[in-house]
Formats: sequence, structure tokens, C-alpha cells
Amino acid sequence: VTDGTRTEYRTCPLCEATCGLEVTLHADEVVRIRGDRDDVFSRGFICPKGSTLKHLEADPDRLRTPLIRRNGVHEPAAWDEAFQEIESRLRPIIEQHGPDAVAVYLGNPNVHSMSGVLYNRVFLKALRTRNIYSASTIDQMPKHVSAGLMFGHPDLIPVPDIDRTGYLLMLGANPYESNGSLATAPDWPGRMEAIMERGGTVVVVDPRSTRTTRAASEHVFIRPGTDPLLLFGLVNVLFADGLVDPGRLADSVEGLDAVRAAAAPFTPEAVANGCGVDADRIRRLARDLAAADTAVVYGRIGTHTAEFGTLASWLVDVLNTLTGNLDRPGGAMFPRAATEQPRDRRGFRTGRYTSRVHGLPEVRSEFPVATLADEILAPGDGRVRTLVTLAGNPVLSAPDSDTLDRALGELDFMVSLDLYLNETTRRADVILPGTPPLRRPHYDFAFTQLAVRNVANFSPAILTAEHENPDEWRILLRLAAVVAGQGRSADLDAFDDMVFATLIGRSVADPGSRVTGRSPEELFAATTGAPGPERMLDFLLRTGPYGDGYGTAPGGLTLERLRAAPHGVDLGALEPRLPSALATPNGRVDLAPKVIIDDVARLSKRLTSSGNGHLVLVGRRDLRSNNSWMHNLEVLVKGKERCTLHVHPADADRLGLDPGGMAMVVSAAGSVAAPVRVTDDIMPGVVSLPHGWGHDLDGIRLNVAATRPGVNTNRLVPAATDPLSGNAVLNGIPVEVTPT
Ligand code: SF4
Repeated sequence: VTDGTRTEYRTCPLCEATCGLEVTLHADEVVRIRGDRDDVFSRGFICPKGSTLKHLEADPDRLRTPLIRRNGVHEPAAWDEAFQEIESRLRPIIEQHGPDAVAVYLGNPNVHSMSGVLYNRVFLKALRTRNIYSASTIDQMPKHVSAGLMFGHPDLIPVPDIDRTGYLLMLGANPYESNGSLATAPDWPGRMEAIMERGGTVVVVDPRSTRTTRAASEHVFIRPGTDPLLLFGLVNVLFADGLVDPGRLADSVEGLDAVRAAAAPFTPEAVANGCGVDADRIRRLARDLAAADTAVVYGRIGTHTAEFGTLASWLVDVLNTLTGNLDRPGGAMFPRAATEQPRDRRGFRTGRYTSRVHGLPEVRSEFPVATLADEILAPGDGRVRTLVTLAGNPVLSAPDSDTLDRALGELDFMVSLDLYLNETTRRADVILPGTPPLRRPHYDFAFTQLAVRNVANFSPAILTAEHENPDEWRILLRLAAVVAGQGRSADLDAFDDMVFATLIGRSVADPGSRVTGRSPEELFAATTGAPGPERMLDFLLRTGPYGDGYGTAPGGLTLERLRAAPHGVDLGALEPRLPSALATPNGRVDLAPKVIIDDVARLSKRLTSSGNGHLVLVGRRDLRSNNSWMHNLEVLVKGKERCTLHVHPADADRLGLDPGGMAMVVSAAGSVAAPVRVTDDIMPGVVSLPHGWGHDLDGIRLNVAATRPGVNTNRLVPAATDPLSGNAVLNGIPVEVTPT
């Protein structure tokens, strides 16, 4: 510290890449943010969003006090007033209609927040509703389902070992814009280029030409939504050519014959028409994949947000297994996170109960967000009457968003915890301001489980609370106390002690834990860190695989050790973990889960289809955009219009669209008018709009975003789902496009 200037280091919480930031402050004002060159994982890399935490902190539109809606206008309120309003309106609904009358929506920022990861569950447990919805059914549930069915636990997700692979086959991902997802790696572009620099190959399958496809060794155009046809074609060739070799895991894998039988009809010739990739190319890709010394198949958003999302996600790991690349360096590997706790062998299933209106199965104790509007609008017993949103903006990010927006207007009561008065929270009766990133501690529980290298990095809060606002975990505890009937004045410190003691109690009772049979009181007393998420983190680190085991492994990880390492601790490259890490009841990989094999018949009907002549709509990512919620930062949205409709020149000609003119896009769900950009970066027959825009609704307080509102592409997306995962179908939407 000199002249009141200090430098702090922390992990960027904005996306999954977990880059290290160097933050320079002067008298509690952020002066500069740049990449932390000494960060053990990111080595100085950041994207344009990383430095904007400074602008987010200073944004005058960011909420700093609770708001209560009175006569249609959101007015500032004191915290106690806000909780009094919540208690007086929420409790009677629970008492009269039961907890299922209250739905909860968990937005994506929760997985980037210690409080979100650790305390949402306390709130949900206190509420005991079945009406839980989240951003997971917008873009990633297929991976959880396929991983759960194959490996026994929905979080046991293999990630591409991109730092050691010789061949990467990537579908539906654009890490040059998104920085990677379900595969945490700062500087994906640099790591991808390193594959080719060491003589390897990167093949990207995408209906669009992107910065990622242009950087790759090869780009394969594919018809949107047909990834499983191509993937099945590859599986078919591996069997037909005798190239199947699961290697070291051969004795730990079951279901090979069922996969062979399921793949039999999907010959390259049979799938070529449907997916738009010719048969010879499919054969060559399969043979290259099998021949590579190390190879990995990785699929992301484009494969998951489609009609056959779970099938596609499953086939990705089938291919990794059949080629002997599952769980080996350079293949698809399972991270060992520093806070990982033992998993039981109960296995994974879905559909333990179903949704009221459409009978959709629960998946991971959630219902598809695509059905939330119907659960609110359809009359009858069990109707959702109240919604609590914890971050997120489903009015922009969920399918059939016009209907959802209308449904929110029908609620009896709505509460939101959020940084902004946005398109969703404008419907709330009470809005509680979330804690901005620099004012809260940070540890990436979720993304260390998905990282391509084992690392641990703790970031203390570097600014104190503003206006003495409570931390988010205290807000969540108070909400939990209210819904549980303990009242808004409950003793939160005692409540938190009880929550922490319960965590310890479960651990000492678990025969697989590192502290089995130890004294809970002794562990409670020995834990360091402030009450709330910090001491829970200390406990989870110390009982995790690298932890000090509360004295049994001196020198092991503790919160104190992470505090002393502001650039993070490198725990090494990923190591093989199977079969011992499997959580299936029989301890083997189930390559052919019955519910997945049963779904193949649905795909078979697509074999002969080459589309019905409709244009189809796909989404796209932008490096300067983060889903729906960073469009109020001038530094990110200035410059050229980003929310444009990409159209191939041949389609533009045929439809009479002028470059720079406007087009009306109409689907079965709705319509939007968007500026046209004619580009051969997109396949003929496909058009693209980015998601997260549409900041033109009344009642929001996003003054910068409102000047460049863009259009909400989810107004065009019907409320359809992938039946196995409940994931929204956001890609491959049939549309009509006309000039306006
Ligand atoms: S890539 Fe993601 S984690 Fe890294 S600086 Fe950008 S937003 Fe932050």
C-alpha cells in the first residue's frame, strides 16, 4: 500500500473461465483491472468483460437499496420494511396453498457466487417447494442427465483435456466468444491454438462460420439440431470398421452391444442427408478420431439446446469411450476439485415426480423453465401463485418469453434478489439488491469441478458492504427464516451456526468422509473463516481430497493456505480417476442407459428428413455480452449494433432482404423485427440472432441498455423441451423471414 493505493487479486466471477484479475484501488475506488500475470491458471489472460467489474461497481443503475412496488412504481425501502412486506404477503400464501404455490427461479449468476452455491439450498430446504426452475434447463441439463446416467452422478462430467490432446472434435461451441463452458479453461483460444502448434488437429462442427471455426484446422457445417445424427454416424463407422477399443476401461464399461445395435441404422449414408455432412467426410472423421494418439470429442451449447440434446451429449461421451479416450490424458477426464466430497453409489434417475400441468419429469429436483409460464397460468389446485427469482432474467432468457412475461403479471406476489431492475424483476413486488462481485468473497465451487486443470483460488471481498447492506448469504438466510415461519427477526447467527453444524454432522456420519467419526464440536471450533460461506469453504477444503483433514494431513489445503496464495494454488494436471470415481450402483460405466436407448427411436424418424424448406433460427455468442445482464455497461455495448439477424447472401437474395435493412422474423411462438446483416458466415437455410437482448420493456431501470435494446430472440422460441432433460430447444427453430 502506497498513497492509499493497493492491489488485490481475485478470480473473475463473470463466466466459467475463472481468470485471475489484478485490481488496483485508490481509497476504495477501483482504478484499474487487468489480468493477473501470476495467476496459476490464467497467466494474465482476460477478456474485455473482466475489466468491467469496475464499471459494474460504479453503474448508477445497479440497485443499492431494496425496492417495493407501490401503485405500479418501484420505490426505495428500508431492509426491514422490505422483509416485512415479504413476510406479510408470502407466508399467508404458503399457509393457504402450501409451499408448491411458491416457485423459485435460480439464474446463472448463482453458480458464480459462494452464497448462491451454499445458501440457496438452505432457502430451498426451508421452503420445501417442488416448483424449482433454473438456467440449467436453458442450456446445460442434457450434460447432467447423460453424465448422471452413464457415470452415476450428474456432476461427474468429463472435460476435454485440451492441454494434452492431439485431436479435438468440437460441436456447437464457440469458445473464442464464450471462453468455454462445462470445460473451464482461461484462454481457450490460446489452448486451442497450442493443439495445432504441437501438430494436433482441431475440427469444429457448427452451422456458422465463427472466429473459432476460422482458427480451427477444419470446419464442418451442419444443419442445426442434427448433431446426434452426425455423432451416431461416427459411432456406426467405428463399429463397422472394427475401430472400437475402450482400452484400459474395457472391463469397466457395459452396454457396448446395445450401443452397436442402436447405431446400426445410422450409417454415414443414412445420416448424411439429415445432418448435411456427406458420408465420405463422416467416415474420414471417424477414422481420424480413432487413429489419433489422443483425441477428445466435446459438445456444448449448440448440442444441448436442441430437440435431441441428451442424445447428443451422451454420444459425445460414447465416442470418447469407444476410442479409448475416456479418462486418459489428452482425452475426456474427470477433474478432482479441492472441495469435492464423497459420492454415494445410489446412481441417478429422473422423474421421481412430475410437473402439474404437462406431467414433465423432475430432473435434479427441477422442472423445465419452459413450463413455468403454464404452471402460473393454468388454473387449479397447485397453481404457482408466487415467484422468487434469485438472479437471472428469464423474461429474456427462457423460451416463449412473451407468455412468461404475461404469466409473471398474473402472480399474486413476486420477490427478486438481483443487481438490477430488469425485464424480469420489474414484475417483482419486492426487489432485494444483490451483493456486487467486488464486495463479496469468491471461490469457484462449480467451475473447479469442470476445470481442465486442478486448481484452487480464494478471493476475499475487496470492498466493504455499501450502505451496510447485508451480504447475500444473510439475505438468503432471512428469506429461509421467513418461509419456514421463523419470522424475519430470527437470529441469523444462530441459524447459520445450525446450518454449519448440520454440514459437519453429515460429514462425520459419512463413512467415506475424511472426518468420519470425528467430534463435530471439535471440528466446528477448529474451523477458520468468518461465519457464512467462508467457514463452510474452510471445512470443505479441509475435508476435500487435498485438505489437511483437520490434522490428519498436515500441510494440506485450508482456507488460510489459500489466503496466503493470492494467485491460486496449482494442484496439477488431471489424472485418471476411473473406475473408483464412478457413482453407478455397480461401479461400471453404463454406456447404454435404457432411457437414452429408448429415445433413439425418436431420432430415427429424422433419418430421412432434410428439413421442410423452412429457414431455421440459431443463436450466437458475443465476446462483449454475458447472457442478458451486462448490456448496461457502455464500455461493452458501444460501437456497432450486435443484435442483428445474420442471413446468407443466397437467402437474402431469394427473400429480397437488403443488407442493413430490417426483417420481420416470424415463428410459431411470436415475431420480432431485426436489422439484417448479410454474411456468408452462416449456412444457407439458417439465420441467427444473439440471445439476451430486448431491453425495450416498460418499467426497467437499465438506462444504457435501453438505448440499444436489440430484440429478444426467445420471443420466437416455442416452449418445447428435450424430453429426457427438460432442456429448452433454442436452436433449429423454423422461421419465416420477410423484409419490412
Ligand atoms: S473470460 Fe470470463 S472469467 Fe475471464 S475475464 Fe472474461 S468474463 Fe472474466
